[in-house]
Amino acid sequence: MLLKVVCPGSFDPITNGHLDIIERAAQLFPGVVVGVLENPSKKPLFSLQERVELIQNAVRHLNNVEVECFSGLLIDFARRVGSNLIVKGLRAISDFEIEFQMALNNKRMAPEIETIFMMTKNEYSFLSSSMVKEIVHFGGDVRGLVPEGVETALRKKYGLSAGE
Ligand code: ADP
Repeated sequence: MLLKVVCPGSFDPITNGHLDIIERAAQLFPGVVVGVLENPSKKPLFSLQERVELIQNAVRHLNNVEVECFSGLLIDFARRVGSNLIVKGLRAISDFEIEFQMALNNKRMAPEIETIFMMTKNEYSFLSSSMVKEIVHFGGDVRGLVPEGVETALRKKYGLSAGE
């Protein structure tokens, strides 16, 4: 029986695009585990702990969502938390190729685990963690694109004052 689904990502940092997928998954399934990938080779801006805290803060209103970290293979993480369903968001065609590759590789290694995709909301189709970082870094405004607290955390990272 399906108990919970996994929403994986690096979340460096979480955006409203990620949050929309998590919220929709939380409405459709009994439980959601947000899996935060450690992935030091990607040199994240936020530490694992910081990324987890920003997500926990953003999902406080969802009582069937938990946040956990993992390193290594996603299928091992899914098995560890007792899930056989991975839920991911899809933006444009550019996401498709890599997601297709990952889903097929995961299927080969773990045939019992399914990956499903939800289309992004129109207003978030252009949104990514890297865009958000770049905009804040160069003094732009990301209101409405990230959950509360994320813009402040980004400004702090880039040594900008809170309201600049
Ligand atoms: P990014 O691609 O922004 O670095 P992650 O690696 O954290 O993000 O991605 C985790 C998952 O969230 C992926 O399935 C990705 O497609 C999805 N995702 C990221 N941004 C959005 C968005 N704006 N709308 C829908 N899904 C998204």
